[in-house]
Amino acid sequence: MGTILDGKAIAARLHDALTREVAALRGCPRLAILWFETPSSALYRKAQCRQAASLGIAITDASFPTDVEPDAVEARILEWNRDPKIHGMFVHQPMPAQINPQRISALIDPAKDIEGIHPQNSARRFFAKARIGSCTALAVMELIEATGMPLEGKDAVVVGHSEIVGRPVSMLLLDKLATTTICHIATTHLEQHVHRADVLVVAVGKPQLIKGAWIKPGAIVIDVGINVVGGRVVGDVEFEAARQRAAFISPVPGGVGPVTVMMVMKNTVEAYKLQQQGGAAA
Ligand code: NAP
Repeated sequence: MGTILDGKAIAARLHDALTREVAALRGCPRLAILWFETPSSALYRKAQCRQAASLGIAITDASFPTDVEPDAVEARILEWNRDPKIHGMFVHQPMPAQINPQRISALIDPAKDIEGIHPQNSARRFFAKARIGSCTALAVMELIEATGMPLEGKDAVVVGHSEIVGRPVSMLLLDKLATTTICHIATTHLEQHVHRADVLVVAVGKPQLIKGAWIKPGAIVIDVGINVVGGRVVGDVEFEAARQRAAFISPVPGGVGPVTVMMVMKNTVEAYKLQQQGGAAA
């Protein structure tokens, strides 16, 4: 029976360290949150605001109806770019269909881009000293690190290739010298790839996509997926069956999610420090 990777406990440890760091700063970092009025976005924003308040990070936020004109969203980002009191910006995803995510990513001031989505930052920032980049990918790596298992030479398989999760997490696994395979919608024989994974990261958004019987005995399984089924939040992995085979497994909820919120805060503090030094990200 695999050990459950407790995201809440890991987030609490990160919270303690970050509280000390924020207290030692001369000023106050400010995070700007732009979100679209959907129930899931409202919940996520609430979690972000709660953590920011408990850490002493200030929040500016803007909400838009899901039928908002793209111009209004773009104008707000440009306004925040010019505001020296704002140090980090987080735009909730998924964005409504009429908003072009690539256009939004390219508009954000790279120095305030705490998700690493600006084209100038997407790959580079992970290898910069400050390691500001996809908060979810950094959270996945924190969970893997908590297992104490070295990644070098291990077979890592990432299911999902989104700009915001699958791709950045693959880069970080590669950076640790794991032999990394990225699976996606066109992958044939997904089961075979999953079955040879020492480390499996699933970020798709399809409940039960990964069957418990596919898991390699002794694997580390990180489930990023968030799905609501019959009023319950579940991941992309058949949790109970997978736990029978895995050495470590992250639950949904209570796994990647709480750690991701802390990474948003950590990246805001890193961006603040870089801006105070007047330096670039790298
Ligand atoms: P996304 O942009 O929709 O990406 C999903 C990825 O899965 C795409 O690359 C897609 O490929 C791929 N895919 C779809 N069906 C597949 C299949 N049958 N086999 C293999 N790959 C398949 O979503 P995302 O933003 O990466 O998020 C993924 C999940 O993680 C969602 O449930 C989201 O809610 C959750 N999430 C959780 C956190 C957290 O903190 N816990 C943070 C972010 C996201 P194509 O694009 O080629 O179709």
